[in-house]
Amino acid sequence: MRAALLRWYRRERRDMPWRREVSPYRTWVSEIMLQQTTVAAVTPKYEAFLARFPDVRALASAPEDEVLRLWAGLGYYTRARNLRRAALAIVAEHGGRFPSDYESVMALPGIGRYTAGAILSIAFGRPRAVVDGNVIRVFARLFGLRGRAKDPAFAARIWERAEKLVPKSSPGDWNQALMELGATVCTPESPSCGACPVSGGCVAFAKGLQDELPLPEKRREPTPVRWTCLWIERRGEVLLWRRSERERLLKNLWGLPEVGKVPAAPGRRLARVAHTITHHALTVDLREGALDGGAALPPEAGWIPAARARERLVSSLWLKCLTAAGR
Ligand code: SF4
Repeated sequence: MRAALLRWYRRERRDMPWRREVSPYRTWVSEIMLQQTTVAAVTPKYEAFLARFPDVRALASAPEDEVLRLWAGLGYYTRARNLRRAALAIVAEHGGRFPSDYESVMALPGIGRYTAGAILSIAFGRPRAVVDGNVIRVFARLFGLRGRAKDPAFAARIWERAEKLVPKSSPGDWNQALMELGATVCTPESPSCGACPVSGGCVAFAKGLQDELPLPEKRREPTPVRWTCLWIERRGEVLLWRRSERERLLKNLWGLPEVGKVPAAPGRRLARVAHTITHHALTVDLREGALDGGAALPPEAGWIPAARARERLVSSLWLKCLTAAGR
């Protein structure tokens, strides 16, 4: 079954920029970008990111704001900050060379078991497993395991199995083959068992359970959140506000000020925008704001030319607001 899957992967794998030339840095950046994000969304961002930051040292020496700008649109901005922090650590602690032992890789900011396994197996040829949602689904069906993909205990069972199965030779291809099978053949809905290279050994296929495994997730309703934000313009500049570390959403990023954060009164509504961020259903009312001329601005507030607001407002929430308001 292993040989059949590897043969299939080498024949059918999709062309992706991070597969054309493999290095620890390229694998790392692509894996971080691909977390929670589709291949189609990542591909152009990855190419632009690599063109600007071709290696660890280039990333380590870049200002954080520039890294965030190149990340704009991918969401989950903590990933970009951790990428830069990890690059700084690799330069400071490993002379700019990506470490190749599991403990050192796991000690880097933003790298967990999945990413460490991907870098070590794909770029260094080390027999480390990689388990993501695709692998959990494939294993659940292949071995007939009953459980929910998001149940940590079930995921732990899959990890255990995956670590036992990862081969010493071509572990990177093996891991990628499992993920590719899950992404293209053993899909969540209506898997293409007729085209599957491992259907001969698949428990779910033999028992007709491929649509029932893994067990369906319990639905979680998104938390509703309402913000009223202000568009405050003065002599061609707009007032932005840097959200703090304590914010629930979009922390440490520039945004439009919410009512109450700056001394300004809300006026006419410019737009209403609905947007979802990690299980939060946001409704943002964007209103014109008039500053209380006598009051001092808080240190988190800053003016920027209105024409350049989109460079600072990297979250797609703000870009949606600007577009809806015709700004
Ligand atoms: Fe998935 Fe069907 Fe292949 Fe089994 S036979 S691994 S259910 S695609």
